Amino acid sequence: MIPFLDVKSIQLEQADELKAAFSRVLESGWYILGNEVTQFEKEYADYCGAKECIGVANGLDALILALKALGIGPGDEVLVPSNTYIATWLAISHVGATPVPVEPVIGTSNMDPALLKAALSARTKAIMPVHLYGQPAEMAPIMYFAREHGLKVVEDGAQAHGAKYQGKRLGSHGDAVTWSFYPGKNLGALGDGGAVTTNDSELAERIRVLRNYGSKVKYHNDVIGYNSRLDELQAAFLRVKLPLLDTGNARRSAIAMRYLDGLKDIPGIRLPQVAEGCEPVWHLFVIRHAQRQKLAQHLASQGIGTVIHYPIAPHLQPAYAHLGLRAGALPISESMHAEVLSLPLGPTMSFDDVDAVISAIRQFSVE
Ligand SMILES: *Cc1c(COP(=O)(O)O)cnc(C)c1O
Repeated sequence: MIPFLDVKSIQLEQADELKAAFSRVLESGWYILGNEVTQFEKEYADYCGAKECIGVANGLDALILALKALGIGPGDEVLVPSNTYIATWLAISHVGATPVPVEPVIGTSNMDPALLKAALSARTKAIMPVHLYGQPAEMAPIMYFAREHGLKVVEDGAQAHGAKYQGKRLGSHGDAVTWSFYPGKNLGALGDGGAVTTNDSELAERIRVLRNYGSKVKYHNDVIGYNSRLDELQAAFLRVKLPLLDTGNARRSAIAMRYLDGLKDIPGIRLPQVAEGCEPVWHLFVIRHAQRQKLAQHLASQGIGTVIHYPIAPHLQPAYAHLGLRAGALPISESMHAEVLSLPLGPTMSFDDVDAVISAIRQFSVE
């Protein structure tokens, strides 16, 4: 059996340290916004090369709080990839703004900067590039466009911890970058967690206030805030995991290179492409195949797990029926949703298992 992702084996690699972190928090007697959160924020900001990091409850809240703190709200439009995980769209809706989808470049699956202009209106206030599947979006043209039109940029980094764009780690290319520490992400906790990184200290302060009931001083509430704090315990676990992030990403990258080499020249398979200046961290290895369902079944019959990221485009979800975007409205995204398949990949996967997946795919293609 080759699982799609073995999260348990990843956590067990550091079992003793995680248990020690638990004991440290247990015995500290301080369980909300304590030293572990403060230290993790400092360590993750340093890792990302950002001035500030604010720990929050999860990746969706990170997106919502960043938009809210930037003043995005009702009547505003936000440019967002048509093929992202729905969380990016949901955050826009939760602050009362409207998502305006921008189609991706097929090879990289990331937002196509050349299509921003056509999506712009007098109401556009922000762009939300997503570093999908662990590959940085093309930030240089996106930032250029944003500055030219006075737009804020909130990057969704939930799948790209440690990825580099033009030699610099993601974390401060745009106005704010949001992170998720959901267990299956490249930097995953043992539960929910999230963060925002930014170089803007005033923005960071607004997010800090928003995550904690709109309060700087206990029982003094300046704005209508949330309860969205990164757990002290999850912060302690993340401090154990962060020093191994680069090692895990390097292992992911070696597996991706093996897939790219082993699957090249197979008819019917389209492989992911890496854009210039991008150093991806291979959160997912996503291929495209016209017979996606049959291929997935063939692999399943050999005990190989795959997942579809994602089966339904956000604009075709019942949640977004009110936008009135019918099937055919976003053809690039729709064709991707029909063809993508994510192969097994994780920092504890062996090369033998990678080779087994490659030969199972080769076998399917000659049948
Ligand atoms: C996982 C993910 C999120 C949401 O993170 P949660 O911590 O689960 O709320 C947001 N955006 C993208 C692209 C994701 O992959």
